[in-house]
Amino acid sequence: MADEMKLSDKLTMKKKNIYDCVDAEKKAKIFDFAEGYKSFLDIAKTEREASVAAIEAAKRYGFTEYKLGEPLKAGDRKYYNNRGKSIYVFKVGTRPLNEEGIRILAAHIDSPRIDLKQVPLYEDSGMAFFKTHYYGGIRKYQWLAMPLSLHGVIIKKDGSEVNIRIGDEENDPVFYINDLLPHLAQEQATKTLATAVNAENLNILVGGIPLKDGDGDGSVKLNVLNILNEKYGITEEDFISAELCCVPAFNARDIGFDRALIGAYGHDDRVCAYPLLRAIFDTETEQTVLGVLADKEETGSNGNTGMQSMLLLDIITEISRAMGYTDTAVRAVSKCLSADVNAAYDPNYKEVYEVKNSAMISCGTTMSKYTGARGKSGTSDASAEYVGYIRKTFAENNVHWQTSELGRVDLGGGGTVAMYIANLNIDTVDLGVPVISMHAPYEVVSKADVYSTFEAFSAFIK
Ligand code: MN
Ligand code: MN
Repeated sequence: MADEMKLSDKLTMKKKNIYDCVDAEKKAKIFDFAEGYKSFLDIAKTEREASVAAIEAAKRYGFTEYKLGEPLKAGDRKYYNNRGKSIYVFKVGTRPLNEEGIRILAAHIDSPRIDLKQVPLYEDSGMAFFKTHYYGGIRKYQWLAMPLSLHGVIIKKDGSEVNIRIGDEENDPVFYINDLLPHLAQEQATKTLATAVNAENLNILVGGIPLKDGDGDGSVKLNVLNILNEKYGITEEDFISAELCCVPAFNARDIGFDRALIGAYGHDDRVCAYPLLRAIFDTETEQTVLGVLADKEETGSNGNTGMQSMLLLDIITEISRAMGYTDTAVRAVSKCLSADVNAAYDPNYKEVYEVKNSAMISCGTTMSKYTGARGKSGTSDASAEYVGYIRKTFAENNVHWQTSELGRVDLGGGGTVAMYIANLNIDTVDLGVPVISMHAPYEVVSKADVYSTFEAFSAFIK
C-alpha cells in the first residue's frame, strides 16, 4: 500500500490548495500582500485612476517619465504614460537583448462598467437621470438597485480639466439604476435573463429637486445643472468632451469567517495589474523587463490605448534601438506572460465547467495554454516548448500554480490580449488569477491566488 501511494505521488498530478501547503509565516505574507492590493482597488476603480496610482507608485520606486525617442541606458527605470489610460513601466537590463529579449508582463486596467452617453442628462416624472451605454460584457440585471459612484474626467471648452469622483467617501451621495418591484414584474419575469433588462433602461438616477425659479418642465434637470455649474463650472455642453462612468460604490472587503477571499469591483484585471507592478518594482533582475497596463481590453483592445495599438511595438523598437539592436531580433527572443483573470470553478454551476481542466480556487495562479472558443476559434496557443520553459521557471522558483481553460468546450472560451502580443512574434501564454463571478459588480478572488500570481511574475522576470 505504501509503495502504491509513492507511485501515485510520483506519476499523477493533483491540484493542491495553497492554504494546505503554507506555514503561518507564508500565510501572513499572503494576507499582508492582500492588504496592499485592497488599498490599490479602492483608489483605482477606472483605468484613469489605476494609471495615476501606477505612476505614483513607479515614482516612489525611482522610475522617471519616458518620452518616445529619448536615449536609454542599462539601469534606467522608466514609465510611459499613454494618454492617462494605459501605462508602460520598464527597466533596462544588462543582459544582451538579441539573446534574452525583453520579459513582458501585460495586464489590463479597464473593467466592465456603465458609461455615460455624450448627451446624458434628462428629466422625467420629477427625477433627473443620465443616459448610459454600458462598457464591456456586463449582465445587465446585476447592476440594478445598488449604490453606484461616478468617476471620470470632463474637458471644458477652454481646455481645462475637471476630475470627478463622487460616491466613494462615506458622506458622498451615490447614484442608482432603478429596478422593477416584484409586484409589477410578472410579465418581465417570464423573459430571459438576457432580454429582461433593456439597455436603454439603464438610466442613472441623479436628482429629484426642482429648481425654485425654474419654469416647471425641466427644472429638476436645471437644478442638477446648476449644482454642477456651481461646483465644477460646467454646462450641459461640457458632457460632450467628457469620459464619465458609474461603477459600484463598494470598497474591497474580506470575504468569509477565515478571510480567505477578497470581494471587490474590478478584480478583472487589476488583480493581475497590482502583482505585475509589485513584481517589477521589487524584483532584482539583469533582464530588461516591461510591464504593460492596457486599456480597452473589455471592448476588444482597439484604439490608441488598447493592446492592438502600435505603441507596444514602438516601445520595444525604441528600447531595442537605444541598446544597439533591431526590434525584429529582440522580439524574436522576447517572452510574455499575458496576465489576465480566468474563471474559477464554481461548484454551484458545475454544469458549465469541465472539472479536470478548470481553475480551482486557492490552488494558485492559473495558466491557459490556449484561449478561443468553439474549436479554439480566435485562439492564441502557446507552444509546448514555451509552456515547458514556464513550467521549468516556476518549478525552480517554487511557484504554486495550476492549468485551466475557461469553461467546457462549445460553451466557454474567451480572448485576452495574448494574441496581439503573440502576433508580434513574441512567445506568449496566458496566466492569471481565478475569479468567482467574473464581470459581476462584486467579484471574488482568493488571497492565496493573488500572491501566487505575484510569485509567478517575479520568477518570470528574474
Ligand atoms: Mn480580463
Ligand atoms: Mn474581462
